[in-house]
Order: sequence, then C-alpha cells, then structure tokens
Amino acid sequence: MYTEVTTKYPILLVHGLFGFDRIGQFEMFHGVRQALEKAGCRTHVPALSGVHDNEIRGEQLIEQIERFLKRTGYLKVNLIGHSQGALTCRYVAAVRPGMVASVTSVSGPNHGSEVADQLRRALTPGNMPEAAAARMASGFAHFLSLLSGNGHLPQSPVDALDALTREGVARFNSRYPQGLPSEWGGEGNERVDGVHYYSWSGCIQDSLFSEGRNALDPLHLALRGYARLFEQETDCNDGLVGRCSSHLGKVIRSDYPMDHVDTINQTAGLVRANIDPVKLYVDHAALLFSKGL
Ligand code: CA
Repeated sequence: MYTEVTTKYPILLVHGLFGFDRIGQFEMFHGVRQALEKAGCRTHVPALSGVHDNEIRGEQLIEQIERFLKRTGYLKVNLIGHSQGALTCRYVAAVRPGMVASVTSVSGPNHGSEVADQLRRALTPGNMPEAAAARMASGFAHFLSLLSGNGHLPQSPVDALDALTREGVARFNSRYPQGLPSEWGGEGNERVDGVHYYSWSGCIQDSLFSEGRNALDPLHLALRGYARLFEQETDCNDGLVGRCSSHLGKVIRSDYPMDHVDTINQTAGLVRANIDPVKLYVDHAALLFSKGL
C-alpha cells in the first residue's frame, strides 16, 4: 500500500523518551520498521539503554553503528530519531559525520522542552508551592508509567529531565550546533559536514472532539494536559515539544495534527483518522533515496 523504495543506506530508528524502547508491549516506532522493510529499506532498531544523558546515549549509538556497519558492509546509515533520540542522532553526526548519511528529527526537542523545564522546577524542592509541585510530580510519574507499562522507570527523573530542559539542550547545542536554524522558527542547513538534516513534528489541535479514536488514547490525554503548561509556544506544541523547538535542518513540516507520540503511531495505532504517521516514514525514505542517501 506504500511506495516501494530502497534507500542506498540502511535506516536506523532511534528511540527517545527517557530511554524506553517500548510503550507498554509495543515497539516504540509502532509498525514503522515493518513498513519500511516492506517498502524495501533495510531497517534496524538499535537497543539503547535507559541512560539519560545525550552524550552517553550517543556514544552507545556510535558503538552499535560501528558493529552494524562491520556486520553488514554498509559505509553509512540514515538515522531517524524520535524525541530525545533526535539529540542522540545529532551527537553521533556531530562527532562521527563519516558514518552518517542523514539525521532526521521526529518531534525532537532540539531547543529543549518547556514541559521538562516545568517538571524540573516542580521536582526541585522549594521552587513551587508544595501541593502544585506534588500534583505535577505525580502526574509525571503517571505519564512515565503509561509509557513503560509495568517495566522499569528512570532511576532519577531529575537527571532525565536535565538532558531535555531548555537550559540543558542549549548547553548541548553550543557543543553540537550542526543543522540548527540560525533564527528562532527558521530552518537549518540541509547539509552540514556531508550529513543531511531533516525534521518534522506536530501540534495538538484545539478540539478533543476532532481527535476521533485518538481521544481514547491515555497518552494523548496526558499530553493534552501537558500542552497547557507551555508559556512560550502556547499555540502550537505536541504536549512535550513546541513547534519551533523541533526545527532542525530542512523542515518537512512542523504542524502535523499529531501529538508527541502520534508521530511514532502510538499508542498502538491510535491516531486521528486523517493522518497516517507510518506513511510519513516511508515517504521520507523516498526523499532520502531521491537525495542519493
Ligand atoms: Ca495517539
């Protein structure tokens, strides 16, 4: 049902969201690997640990790419990173551009997450009225438990958040600026150090009634709640990341009617009726192919 396309280099799907590689019992990129393989693209999902620091996760990814290239004989990979995974991919492309054909950020907090800022404040004692802080912290714990099913939770949510706050990501960006727009809301260079950079993301729509089956998704409801915490990008965000914060390289589109996990077809395919997140990945593979990647 999708276009057939075989990219020159294999596609690696790099998960984020505090190191979970599954949502409940589902693979993080729900149905994406299967669709890409069916279309004709060699696709691999690296297993990154739950370590939260972008650089440590990046070093783990480098090791896995080295092993993958050695095993398969390919010279480079196309990296597609979701959420924090985008920062992981950016790190790899910045320090080892020779092994990366492209980096694509899907819902990536490339300029940090306003929600991470707020939660970080709530989890630091004395910064907020205690009741409000407790409410926010328990909401966050609930969100993480929705993501992980009954599995492991991050040992320290504060450390996890530090890699995603606007301040934390600004520090990361000063070391690894490749592909970032030079002005807020703009696009970055499509090609830096021989690596192509792309991004896409979505915005939660005003009316819950327009969501259809997605209104039944507990993650959508949680993200809708988080969308109200934004102070800067109030009019267009996906519940964790604002539209402009997601921009990296050539922006494919940053206002798809999708929340932060709709872009990985979660939970289990519960998305709006008029959008097919999986098709975006296959279409993107066709774009990479057209660029000789
Ligand atoms: Ca959803």
